[in-house]
Amino acid sequence: MNKKIIPIMDHRRLDVDAAADRRPVVATAEPASVSALPDVVTDKLDRPLRDLRISVTDRCNFRCVYCMPKEVFDHRYTYLPQDALLSFEEIVRIAKLFIARGVRKIRLTGGEPLLRKNIERLVAMLSTLRTIDGDSLELTLTTNGSLLAKKAHALKDAGLTRLTVSLDALDDTLFRKMNDVDFAVADVLRGLDAAHQAGFTHTKVNMVVKGGTNDSQILTMARYFKDSPFILRYIEYMDVGSSNGWKLDEVIPSAEVIRRIHQEFPLRAIAPNYDGETAARWRYVDGGGEIGVISSVTQAFCQSCTRARLSTEGKLFTCLFGTQGYDLRTLLRRGDTDDELSTVIARLWRARSDRYSEMRTAMTSVAVPLRKVEMSYIGG
Ligand code: SAM
Ligand code: SF4
Ligand code: SF4
Repeated sequence: MNKKIIPIMDHRRLDVDAAADRRPVVATAEPASVSALPDVVTDKLDRPLRDLRISVTDRCNFRCVYCMPKEVFDHRYTYLPQDALLSFEEIVRIAKLFIARGVRKIRLTGGEPLLRKNIERLVAMLSTLRTIDGDSLELTLTTNGSLLAKKAHALKDAGLTRLTVSLDALDDTLFRKMNDVDFAVADVLRGLDAAHQAGFTHTKVNMVVKGGTNDSQILTMARYFKDSPFILRYIEYMDVGSSNGWKLDEVIPSAEVIRRIHQEFPLRAIAPNYDGETAARWRYVDGGGEIGVISSVTQAFCQSCTRARLSTEGKLFTCLFGTQGYDLRTLLRRGDTDDELSTVIARLWRARSDRYSEMRTAMTSVAVPLRKVEMSYIGG
């Protein structure tokens, strides 16, 4: 394999102050209250509802081998028609109802969220919302970075709090093969640079580690992002959906990732930023910043999972590995009131007992013969 590595950008050149004057365009703060009194809910395992992930499109311009393999997502694949998608107004209405039930953080995802037309308008609409405690909402977005160079400033100006950019390799040949649409690493790095210039801080870089495919990049990525403004996170390859042909022996456990990096750059574990953080954090002993590992397979974190997911067409899933969502769009479009919708959301959350990853861990390689929802549809 061609081991060419693209030129490494010099993070020290990046001008943090350049964007300091660009303040987000934030309209007047708007509390997310509905007519019912705010009422936080907990599920059957006593987990509160804290995070909402919203998929804004089921389409993507990449065909990552572990997510939208070309053999399944080819020209015959049928995506959702435009009128099936929740409108921005519908998304904001649902978001407010969730916030009134305790949500503090919203992540926009997809598919590729930057493909959704005028996504910055949705960001601006959501960024005016406040939590039930009156705090600013944490509003984040996960992207493959392909359109970030174009969109970073608009997203910042619209009030997006933070960004996560996916990047699975620095080896250009390998990266082109993994995204399977011949997209260059340099263009994602340009997007990261643009995010930094726009004033985004604490930007995460997500690398899905697939054994035998890109594990050669574990150290390459660590070297590159050490001492940079970006926080690299290694994600265990998951059995999301039903089309990526997942095999347990292609999962590189996070413990192994840490072991390999620690040999070259000593690391020490540090405390999570908040309860329920998905990534375990590690800091370079020499002060070179931090990395994270997300061990969804080998060290499941269902016990502290506070995430609900809203699909592109308005179905609510209480677990990434769900097989069926609850159709909130029909309720919205037939004219249910906020109180009625809020009651449904609370009922669904109270009934939640999902802990798929813990059960998968317990069963290890036992196959689960259910048709699970695809990651590109429900959002990561
Ligand atoms: N298209 C955007 C992107 O790639 O960042 C957002 C959606 S993508 C589904 C969200 C995240 O899920 C990405 O970081 C991606 O790498 C991750 N992901 C997708 N399939 C995965 C899998 N099978 N195992 C682990 N992570 C996966
Ligand atoms: Fe697209 Fe993101 Fe899935 Fe890759 S991981 S195919 S970029 S949705
Ligand atoms: Fe949450 Fe389901 Fe993932 Fe467990 S498997 S952490 S319940 S999304």
